[in-house]
Amino acid sequence: MVKNILGKLNQKIKYLKPNEIANIRRAVDFAEHAHDGQKRLTGDPYFRHPLEVASAVADLKLDADAITAAVLHDTVEDTGININEIKKKFGGHVAQLVNGITKLGQVRISKSWFTPFRQKTEQITKYESQIETLRKMFVAMSKDLRVILIKLADRICNLQTLSYLPSDKQKRIAQETMDIYAPIAGRLGIGEFHGRLEDAAFSYLEPTEFKNLRKLAIPVIEARKEYLNTISKKLLDLLAKNGINCYITYRAKTWYSLYRKLLKYDRDINKIYDIVAMRVVVPAIDDCYNVLGLIHSVWRPLPGRIKDYIALPKPNGYQSIHTTVFADNGIITEVQIRTGAMNEQAEFGVAAHWYYSEKKISRRFPKQQLAWVRELAKWQSKIKSATDLRQALKLDFFKNRIFVFTPKGDVIDLPQGATPIDFAYAVHSDVGNQCHGARVNGKYENITSELNNGDVVDIVKKKKSRPNKDWLNFVKTEHARSCIKKSAKQ
Ligand code: MN
Repeated sequence: MVKNILGKLNQKIKYLKPNEIANIRRAVDFAEHAHDGQKRLTGDPYFRHPLEVASAVADLKLDADAITAAVLHDTVEDTGININEIKKKFGGHVAQLVNGITKLGQVRISKSWFTPFRQKTEQITKYESQIETLRKMFVAMSKDLRVILIKLADRICNLQTLSYLPSDKQKRIAQETMDIYAPIAGRLGIGEFHGRLEDAAFSYLEPTEFKNLRKLAIPVIEARKEYLNTISKKLLDLLAKNGINCYITYRAKTWYSLYRKLLKYDRDINKIYDIVAMRVVVPAIDDCYNVLGLIHSVWRPLPGRIKDYIALPKPNGYQSIHTTVFADNGIITEVQIRTGAMNEQAEFGVAAHWYYSEKKISRRFPKQQLAWVRELAKWQSKIKSATDLRQALKLDFFKNRIFVFTPKGDVIDLPQGATPIDFAYAVHSDVGNQCHGARVNGKYENITSELNNGDVVDIVKKKKSRPNKDWLNFVKTEHARSCIKKSAKQ
């Protein structure tokens, strides 16, 4: 079994240089040794897991450092290996990536606010703001896009064996996937990962709905594919006659996106025209518009259903032309028209650009097409030039923020350099006013010391304690400052 996966990985990394491949093999041997004797809950050797993650990362055609880090990603956390050893053996870049992946394990939905979140409005609001903070924390702690991509691949692999865990753990991990991992994959435009994460999470969060949906949709999808097969032959003929060189693929909607759409349409599956989308993939942008015209010459378009995401890309960089037509026998059908590069972008998002930029064929992506960068730029105002892609992908949007936890697992977003006093006031002004001491990660620390990302902070209160004016020299948040001043006046 492990041999098969290793063989697949070797096949997939053929786009790398021989010395890079040799390094990855070295990492494979190292990880095999490090995980020796460990087993997954499935009973398989643990070593199988890092190989699967590396293989998923290789699908994105990331660089050799990223694949090496994927192979090694659990060695520090789960075995006795020290990060310095990784650095010595595989270099500082790989060590940094492994370190980043290890740290991301801290970004978790807390048990304490997991259960009741569906019940009361104020709890939902609190849950949502906590989730948004966790998403920011996830990006802030990654520091490098590759760390995120490896962690997403890690989560996809873990979801495949989720059924072996106890059910409360299953639900927590599924919810975390739905709320944190999947949206991040979506924002990065990695449709392939986004769909897999959502579908796996959905199957655990709403098992009955998932089962019923499949029962309802599978026959419809099968019939649809058969129909598309017939009409695509006709379409290919027409396009060939007009000198357009293209291919056609179909892709069924992911389960979760189909589910959401069904809820919008009163669960009437016949109203979902794109349950299987027909994709015409052409060489150039001009061809897209030509194909659109030719399709409309044989099949009448539904008014108001033509969407030009080439002229107006979606925020995550998605580009394509969508049209819905009355195809043969009047069957309403959605057709998506795009270039090969747009197709890769839709599946691999930001990672597709990475590959192309490494391959020095980035001219296929004129600057204005780098629309996904704009989405990232909302987070990061510091991207000066999208051409310096490697630099642009450094995730330091939140480099001036830190994210720390309350003992209950709530996450608090603070500016860099913030102290336990800032933290106390961020929790509640009373907690700030009565702040007497602080335990950081279980150890007593000075309340004016600097906090770090991921710290767990427990404030020791004293009823009669009053804020000290000297605190004003240490605090970093305006909120703490104004509370301290207010209390001094009284
Ligand atoms: Mn892992």
